[in-house]
Amino acid sequence: MPSLLLERARRIRERLDRLALCTEEPGRITRPYGSRSLGDAYALVNAWLAAAGLRTWADAIGNLRASTARGRPRRLLLGSHLDSVRDAGRFDGPLGVLIAVDLAEHHRASLSSPWPFDLEIAGFCDEEGLRFHSTYLGSRALAGVLDPVVLAETRDADGITLGEAVRRFVGDSAPPAALPRDGLLGYVEVHIEQGPVLEARGAPLGVVSGIAGQARVAWEFIGRAAHAGTTPMALRADALVAAARWTAELHDFARHRAAEGLVATVGRLEVTPGASNVVPGRTTGTLDLRAPLDRTRHEAAMEILALGEVHAANQGCEFFARVEQETPAVRCDLGLRGRLLTAVRAAGLPTAVELPSGAGHDAAALAAAGIPSAMLFVRCRGGVSHHPDEYCSEEDIAAALAAMDEFLLALAAESRPKNGAASKIPDLAGLRGTNS
Ligand SMILES: [Zn+2]
Repeated sequence: MPSLLLERARRIRERLDRLALCTEEPGRITRPYGSRSLGDAYALVNAWLAAAGLRTWADAIGNLRASTARGRPRRLLLGSHLDSVRDAGRFDGPLGVLIAVDLAEHHRASLSSPWPFDLEIAGFCDEEGLRFHSTYLGSRALAGVLDPVVLAETRDADGITLGEAVRRFVGDSAPPAALPRDGLLGYVEVHIEQGPVLEARGAPLGVVSGIAGQARVAWEFIGRAAHAGTTPMALRADALVAAARWTAELHDFARHRAAEGLVATVGRLEVTPGASNVVPGRTTGTLDLRAPLDRTRHEAAMEILALGEVHAANQGCEFFARVEQETPAVRCDLGLRGRLLTAVRAAGLPTAVELPSGAGHDAAALAAAGIPSAMLFVRCRGGVSHHPDEYCSEEDIAAALAAMDEFLLALAAESRPKNGAASKIPDLAGLRGTNS
């Protein structure tokens, strides 16, 4: 790995360490929407962007935005998110923003004339939904698809509306968040993989084929609370037994359909009344269901919920379920994907791995809104993420920089008018993959 790339990667690591100090909870990284710590993170990134010669601003939803602002007819958007989950790792989100900052710094000379497109950077304000449980707030606003009703109706744990939080964070006079679509080449996001696939394949980088759709279901089994000593086993309606058997069976069901990329998780379970000497009368919980194809997810949801009825009946219980949130699956843009794969090979890296993303990302919100979007994943140690042990090596960050350098140079070369001829920028929108 050339030493200049490693130097750039080292500086990114140092900046990640500085951003990690921007937190609501000393000793661990917790950076929710609209917080003082998110503002602190913006101040740092803003200073680096400004030093690289970019014009910077906060938009009307609270994203940190920047542009080379050379008045080029075409623009390419890079970025990721700057908010975090509770007790987060330091790479999830900021890695993509800081790689974009580095690219702007590194290509500073060429980004001036005759660079054929402007580079724009977005540091999204709310991908994780820690404060408002409303994911992709920043990217949906940038894509122009955020329903204003959400601002009035969404409240945090203290009862503050999202609209009020936005006003406190960026004021009333920030420029609109929606990104003009004309001349937009697309959006490219570099992100930590957050899974074990690249490590298992021995590859530092992966190009994302698509982002899984997701359903969040709230469910409950209603049985009959009874005395644990006097109620014969045959006469019980045990809501925990029903929930436990159903959970085990849906786990096996998803395992059998692993080839379709289906994953199903019961992540929360509450038992009522929750006493050691009382047969459980009620259990409530969550089901998280994801798959690369919406059809797979829909079919699985119907079968899994039907299994809930069966296990409820077997225990003399009732079963109720409600889909609380659903995000469609998206395909990444074919043209941008192909360019990223070519760039990974041009950077001299081994096997260019293509993989789907089981985790949601801002790119999913932009792709769902019709903006050509693509993602480059960086290998993470042990697949660990949303955890302080999250880690990407400097070598792998340098590999991502090398690939993104190649990507930008190739895109610039094919975009540049030759000998006064008309620009040969391909119409990426024409190559856009369809949502599925
Ligand atoms: Zn993330």
